[in-house]
Amino acid sequence: MLSYFPDPYENELLYSTIARYHYYSGNLSNAHTLKDLFNISTVKPSIFIPIGIKTLADKIRNKKYTVDYLLQNHTIYPLFSPFLNQKTRNHIINGVDSGKGRLNSLRIMRNYDNLKYCPLCAKEDYNKHTEAYFRREHQIPNLNICCHHNCKLKTYPISRLNVSPDSFIRFNYSLVEKEINDNRAYTDPINEKLDKVLVNSAYHLLTSNFQNAENSLRQRYLYFLRSKNYMFSRNKINELKLMTDFKNFYTEESLSYWNLNFDEKHKYNWIRRFLQRPDGSQDPIKNILLIYFLCGDLYYFFSININDELNFPFGEGPWPCLNPIAEHYGQNVITNFELVKNRSIMGYFKCSCGFTYKINIFDKSRFTNLTGSNIVEFGYEWEEKLKGLILKGYGITRLAMEMKCSDKTILRCSEKIGLRDRINSDKKYSHYIFNKNINQDQKMVNYKKRILNYIEKYPQATRSQIRRNLHSTISWLRLNDPNWLEDHLPSNKSPNFTYNNEQYWHEKDDKLYSKVLETYNLIKNQPMRLTKGRIFSKSGIKVNNFIKLPKTKAIFDSIVETIPQFVTRLVDFQCRKCFEEYGEINITKVRAGCNYYMRTNLQKLINERMDYNIRILVRSTNSG
Ligand SMILES: [Zn+2]
Ligand SMILES: [Zn+2]
Repeated sequence: MLSYFPDPYENELLYSTIARYHYYSGNLSNAHTLKDLFNISTVKPSIFIPIGIKTLADKIRNKKYTVDYLLQNHTIYPLFSPFLNQKTRNHIINGVDSGKGRLNSLRIMRNYDNLKYCPLCAKEDYNKHTEAYFRREHQIPNLNICCHHNCKLKTYPISRLNVSPDSFIRFNYSLVEKEINDNRAYTDPINEKLDKVLVNSAYHLLTSNFQNAENSLRQRYLYFLRSKNYMFSRNKINELKLMTDFKNFYTEESLSYWNLNFDEKHKYNWIRRFLQRPDGSQDPIKNILLIYFLCGDLYYFFSININDELNFPFGEGPWPCLNPIAEHYGQNVITNFELVKNRSIMGYFKCSCGFTYKINIFDKSRFTNLTGSNIVEFGYEWEEKLKGLILKGYGITRLAMEMKCSDKTILRCSEKIGLRDRINSDKKYSHYIFNKNINQDQKMVNYKKRILNYIEKYPQATRSQIRRNLHSTISWLRLNDPNWLEDHLPSNKSPNFTYNNEQYWHEKDDKLYSKVLETYNLIKNQPMRLTKGRIFSKSGIKVNNFIKLPKTKAIFDSIVETIPQFVTRLVDFQCRKCFEEYGEINITKVRAGCNYYMRTNLQKLINERMDYNIRILVRSTNSG
């Protein structure tokens, strides 16, 4: 039992609490602290889920801090748990319980060595508690905005790469104090929407304890895919439509920024793979994007009982009759309905008065807001009344008013009951047609004007943007004047391609080249290997084929490191660092800095390079 353990602050990363413990305990060595808390001293503490959290929970006096509590409130585990299958979840929980074995079974959680903080949060926390701490909502991989202040997160100046692997980094406010006032609000017009969705949803997940107990992630996705008409049949997804709409929704630019762009035609793009096994993805970001796209709300996604929804799609009856002229209009008199599955699933409700309407199972608002297309049949009661009124000699406008429907419906129904010519309507009917034509012509003019105005206002807009924003206008014109539409919409291809293909690639090559160079300059002095993947992810670009990008290829060829090249540079780095800190090259410290590679066959290379550094050093101190 520990005599003392600091209470974790709100949303404090457990790692940060442990670091504070180490600081306050006065322990001289990290090993001592590890032994105190976890009974083992040879372990590299993880930022995300500390190994041996069970042992720790048992040792803390305050029994509020159970494993569950700590995971749920002080790690970023809740961000992942709703999207994992039972097996992975058990694996993790058992791992933290037993305190041994591989704990971080989550691919995405590995290899994060930098701690991040928000300057404003740090300041507020410091003012409140007289010390700052690492908040878990800021440590989410790839998310770099504060969800409370919308400013850019900063990287804490001490990285885990620069300290011995078993140590804990405590948030030392005085170290960052001068940076605190640099908290520009983050604005990036291209990615703003996506950033907001991701940051807010991630925080929502962290603090909400969503459960997905019965392993039904895929079922949930299928349910919402069905509700948005993305299913061909019970289990076959209309992938192409989904991918097109998804891309339009988030835009290609911002998906590329997140390395989540995809080629619809590719058989194994991430969306296709994801939909086959959503719980195999483990990536909360992909999940958030799809959920937001499909249903707009995480809470709704997880809380809806999909079994109930499928068995009782319209709730428990009875349901109202919606015959506009019936005395029992709006009263719940229909006790049965029939489900008809075609492209979508419709419930058919037939009242004893003959009135029948249909409602999509995902569009229950229709119960209070029926449109013409929902009405299947008016029924005999309605028709009898119409018959009576026609025989009384009512004109069409009056009839429509009395029967609470459109002129068109009156004409259609009077035809059906054989009284079409009893309506004094030749004039009326032609009037109606005439009117309709005027409307059509006027509509054509208005619609074309609308499109031209839009193009004038946004000359850079692409065809798909226009389609997205003026969807119904375009659909209507496509039916009624497709040639005009073809002549006036911007060309289907990217404008760059049409004017000069070579020029396009040339410019692209230049752009990528300078981006890579910029990234290279930024990270070339850090102790991490320069790989293609790392440069891609740091610069936010992705290239599969360098054929048309000679300059970019050349720079990649020259900067990407082989492992021996990297190890050489790493040894130089560690020697320099050691010398700067201690005034001499301490062999043990340098070896510890190259920890991982010491265990490989590169040991000889490391030793030689260390000797080389020492010789250089001796020479420079002798000459200086
Ligand atoms: Zn903040
Ligand atoms: Zn009825």
